Amino acid sequence: MNVAVIGGGYAGMAAAVTLAERGVPVTVFESARTLGGRARRIEHRELALDNGLHILIGAYRETLRLMRLAGADPERLFLRLPLAWRIHERFHLAAANFPAPLNLLAGLLTARGAALGGRLAAARFMLRMRRKGYRLEQDTSAAGLLEQHAQDARLTRFLWRPLCVSALNTPLEAASAQVFLNVLRDSFDAGRDATDFLLPRADLSALFPEPAAAYISARGGTVLAGQRVTGIDQARDGFTVSCGSTEQVYDCVVCAVAPYHAKAFLIGITALAEVAEAVDALGYQPIYSVYLRYPQQVRLPAPMLGFDSALLQWAFDRGELCGQRGVIGLVISAEGAHQDLPHDELAQLAHQELQQQIGLLPCPLWHRVIAEKRATFSCVPALKRPETRTPLRHFFLAGDYTASEYPATLEAAVRSGVAAAQAILGTP
Ligand SMILES: Cc1cc2nc3c(=O)[nH]c(=O)nc-3n(C[C@H](O)[C@H](O)[C@H](O)COP(=O)(O)OP(=O)(O)OC[C@H]3O[C@@H](n4cnc5c(N)ncnc54)[C@H](O)[C@@H]3O)c2cc1C
Repeated sequence: MNVAVIGGGYAGMAAAVTLAERGVPVTVFESARTLGGRARRIEHRELALDNGLHILIGAYRETLRLMRLAGADPERLFLRLPLAWRIHERFHLAAANFPAPLNLLAGLLTARGAALGGRLAAARFMLRMRRKGYRLEQDTSAAGLLEQHAQDARLTRFLWRPLCVSALNTPLEAASAQVFLNVLRDSFDAGRDATDFLLPRADLSALFPEPAAAYISARGGTVLAGQRVTGIDQARDGFTVSCGSTEQVYDCVVCAVAPYHAKAFLIGITALAEVAEAVDALGYQPIYSVYLRYPQQVRLPAPMLGFDSALLQWAFDRGELCGQRGVIGLVISAEGAHQDLPHDELAQLAHQELQQQIGLLPCPLWHRVIAEKRATFSCVPALKRPETRTPLRHFFLAGDYTASEYPATLEAAVRSGVAAAQAILGTP
C-alpha cells in the first residue's frame, strides 16, 4: 500500500508520521516551500516569525505525543506556564495547587477583578456543566448558554468572552456552546497540567512539521515541499495524483489541505459531491498577527499578557520566548472593524493601544502585519463537519475542520491526521 498525503500542515504531517511509524510508504505533497500550513515560519528581516502567534495548552496530548515521536522535545520547545488568566490590570485568575477541577474552582473563587457573586456564579456554572458531563441536549450559542446560567458581566468580559474567542476564534454570540463546553471539559477538568499554557520558544515549522519530515524520511517516506498538487483523479487501482508534469498512482489519498482548498479536489470526483457541499457550507473567521519591533530594552511585564481593549487580545514578548528582544507579537482574533484598516494604520493603532495598556513606549522600528483572513472555520452551533472517511473507501480527509469535538486548533488538526492514518491502517 502506498499513500499520498496532500498538504504538509499539522494534519498532513500527523497522518504521515503515523503511517511512517507503521512502515507504510507515504509521500507528502506540500505546495509551499516551508512546511506547517497555517502554523508555519515566516522569515522577516532575518528573524524567524510565524504567520500567526499560537498558544498551545497542556491538553494538546496528541500534538505533544507526536512531537516526541518525531524527536522534538516539548520541554525544550515550550515555555510551560501554569494557568494564569491575566487581563492586564483588570482581572487575574490563577489555578490553585489542587487536583482538577478543584484547581480551577479555587482559582475562580479567588480571582481578582470580579465581585464575589460573579465568581460564585462562575463556579456554580462549572459544577453544573460537570454534572451534565459537559453535554447539551441541543447546541446553542455560547453567549446564550452563559446567559441561561446567569453569568456576571465582568466574568463574561474578562474570562468567558476572551476564552471563547481564543479557543474557538468565533465571537461569543455566534460560537457553539457545545464546542465551548468540550474545551472547558478537556482543559479545566482533565488533570492539572491540561490547563498549562505552552508558549512556543521555536517557530511553528520547527516545532513539529520539520522534525516530522525528518522522521518520515528516515523511515523511507518522502516529503516534497514546494510541490503543488493540481489534480486527484480516480484510477483503476487507486488515485492518480498530478503534480507539475508528473502523475503517480497511489492506493490511498489523505486530502489534508485547508477546507477552502479541498473543494477543488472534491468537486472533481462525483462520489464526493456531498462532501464538497459540506465543505463549501463552512464560514471562516480571520486572525491578525501584528509584530512590532521596538528597541531591544522594551519588555512586557509577562511573556504573555491579555488585554481588555478595543483591538488587541493578547501580547507576547518574543524576547522572553525566543530571544527576539524588543519584538512584541500582538493577536487580534475573529472578525471586526480592524479588517477594513490598511496594515500601516492597524500597526499604528496596535502600538497606541499597547502604550495605553503598559505605558509609554518608543516608536516601533518596523512592523509587520499578517492577516489570515480564513484562519479557522466559524465554529457555530450544530455545525456539520465532514467525516474523516468519505464515500470512497481509500480517500480520506484530514484537517482542523473535519468532524471532531474540538474547534479549529493544532490539536484538532493533529488528531484528524492520526484518525485518517488509523482509518487507512484499518482498511483492507
Ligand atoms: C493566525 C492563526 C493563529 C492561530 N492560533 C492558534 C492557536 O493559538 N492555537 C491553536 O491550537 N491553533 C491556532 N490556529 C489554528 C491552527 O493553526 C490550525 O487549526 C492548523 O494549523 C490547521 O492545520 P491543517 O493541517 O488542518 O491545515 P493547514 O495548516 O491549512 O495545512 C494545509 C496545507 O495544505 C497545503 N496545500 C494546499 N493546497 C495544496 C495543494 N494543491 N498541493 C499541496 N499542498 C497544498 C497548504 O500549503 C498547507 O500547508 C491559528 C491559525 C491561524 C491562521
